[in-house]
Amino acid sequence: AAVVGRRIRSRRDWRRAVEVVRELEAACGTSVNRLRQVVDAMAVEMHAGLASEGGSKLKMLLTFVDKLPNGSEKGIFYALDIGGTNFRVIRVHLGGRRSGILRHNVERNSIPQHLMTSTSEELFDFIAMSLKQFVDREEEKTSEPSLVSRRELGVTFPFPVKQRCVSSGILMKWTKGFSVADMIGKDVSESLQQSMIKKDLGSMRVAALVNDTVGTLAVGHYNDEDTVAAVIIGTGTNACYLERADAIIKSQGLLMASGGMVVNMEWGDFWSSHLPRTRYDIDLDAESPSPNDQVFEKMISGMYLGDIVRRVVLRISQESGIFGSASSRLSTPFILGTPLMATMHQDDTPDLREVAAILNDVLGIADVSLKARKLIVNICDIITHRAARLVAAGIVGILKKIGRDGSSGVAGGRAKGGGGASSSGGGKSRTVVAIEGSLYTNYTLFREYLNDAVAEILGKEFSPFVILKVTEDGSGIGAALLAASHSPNSADM
Ligand code: BGC
Repeated sequence: AAVVGRRIRSRRDWRRAVEVVRELEAACGTSVNRLRQVVDAMAVEMHAGLASEGGSKLKMLLTFVDKLPNGSEKGIFYALDIGGTNFRVIRVHLGGRRSGILRHNVERNSIPQHLMTSTSEELFDFIAMSLKQFVDREEEKTSEPSLVSRRELGVTFPFPVKQRCVSSGILMKWTKGFSVADMIGKDVSESLQQSMIKKDLGSMRVAALVNDTVGTLAVGHYNDEDTVAAVIIGTGTNACYLERADAIIKSQGLLMASGGMVVNMEWGDFWSSHLPRTRYDIDLDAESPSPNDQVFEKMISGMYLGDIVRRVVLRISQESGIFGSASSRLSTPFILGTPLMATMHQDDTPDLREVAAILNDVLGIADVSLKARKLIVNICDIITHRAARLVAAGIVGILKKIGRDGSSGVAGGRAKGGGGASSSGGGKSRTVVAIEGSLYTNYTLFREYLNDAVAEILGKEFSPFVILKVTEDGSGIGAALLAASHSPNSADM
């Protein structure tokens, strides 16, 4: 009788587990119709965000980047690429037309954990010190004539910044779990500049302070003049694109002198009732330090995908016995990182050995049947599939806004000033979107789902005109290029 009882229980458990996954799948549905609604919502919110300050959750931040590098930039420039937990210092020698980037040296540093929650002064002092050491080393070892009377620095800062001009701006809020409270509302360049003076780097000037997407767009455009937008899908997610000055209504004509300007969308904060949100997303958001914030990002980016999967697995383990007795590790937020999730998702061993190992080592769930391991792969697939397709809808939303999606009766007219973009009729011009970020570059299935969804939304006739191009290391070198293109020291300009 005991055996029969166990069998019945196990069948019931299994049925419940499968039900939870089917329910998840339905809630994460991204039919092409649903995606088209997201495309439209994105384009509408872009309009609203450009019309007035606070007109939309999409901040549509002005960057004051009104010219993108085109290859004529010359000279030696430095860049500081501040990521999440690490930063890179870079020295670039630009050779002008025909020569391109003659040389670039990069040094990676990590930000000690305690500084990520300390004061802005301590954080920037540390960064300035590393920069100073790098500059000294570089200038000692190279015989290139250094422009030491004035060193120009491009800074990539991957958070929402309200720019005052291309070289300075105020931090609006932290994202991606970063928190140095006293920094909010402060001018990022000024804080860095003060630390640089303290560290004897007074001759260095922040010539450009840019979002990481803007750096990526700069490199994308440097390599291919048809590049009009850039997307990052890493720890966080965001996009920027080249907009016509007259479409940026909230600037009240201040920008009319220039043809266009790069707009930092901060799309991580996008919200629409068309987003396929689940109970897991809602819980993750509610339990985060910033509820109702970065809702799109929380469904898409590397910081969160693994945790959505963990939440689903936790629920299954609570409602069925298929993962044995409850493991406390499973209740630990963010214990399952997205790289591990990707490994499970793409496990191609016949017995899903990698899945078993991660369940055991990371989540403390041992002896999981092959059937249950397959269910885990299925959960990862549902979450990644949804994320990648939402990014695709976001990209097409931008294309729609600038009239590059092939639809007639365009929402926002054509993008001008997109470099050398040719402009044949019907929106059929070659359009390049620069993409960076570990989810796209390292997570094969994510990339495939994204590419397929873009093609699916655009349709066969139009999708060949849209090219998604990986722009590796874009954000750092991009900041140096923008320092150059906005610097009086760059010849040929
Ligand atoms: C930030 C953006 C950034 C993106 C990608 C988001 O969390 O708000 O400014 O571009 O992450 O790094």
